[in-house]
Amino acid sequence: MSSQPAQTKRSEIVLPGDRVATIEEFEPGSGATVLSDSVVATRVGEVVREMSDRRVEVVPAKDLSSKLPEAGDSIIGNVQSAASSVAQVRIDAINDLPSSKELSGMLSLRDDRRRRSSPVRAGDTIRAGILSTTNSIYHLTLDCKGCGVVFTACSNCGGRVIALSRDRIKCTECGFVDERELADDFTAISRSQN
Ligand SMILES: [Zn+2]
Repeated sequence: MSSQPAQTKRSEIVLPGDRVATIEEFEPGSGATVLSDSVVATRVGEVVREMSDRRVEVVPAKDLSSKLPEAGDSIIGNVQSAASSVAQVRIDAINDLPSSKELSGMLSLRDDRRRRSSPVRAGDTIRAGILSTTNSIYHLTLDCKGCGVVFTACSNCGGRVIALSRDRIKCTECGFVDERELADDFTAISRSQN
């Protein structure tokens, strides 16, 4: 999934869901988790492999982009809060490059009548598109290719969840079923584990 070119000494930037090791090679440290037989990133950052204790971590990237989002860009962000009509999203990467700007985006939720509950929850990592930058507000949309929730956990117990369908998840620990608007990647990874 990561399109980072294999240049020498260039730090390895990964996105949530990217494979960083197999479970035979490394155990997940901070910023990583186990999915099936792989260790995957749970946040945007640089891969650090500690050979001494065979641990792989994803740490916030030092090599940051100072680009400002423009309409049509793709972002990866973390949902800071989600109410019935709007979610606030911290923008961690713009066009798959980690951002140094600590910007916040606004995802409007009220216009979609299909939804019975919020498509995102606080703590979720999402991929979204920049709809507009009117009045210096970064308006986000999930209505774009690859967009939706790319990493989430059970809102009941914090356990690992799998996709039941494109908009429903189930906790593997407590069985709680919840709704999310899932990215294609999330659904595909869940299916590969069944
Ligand atoms: Zn649970």
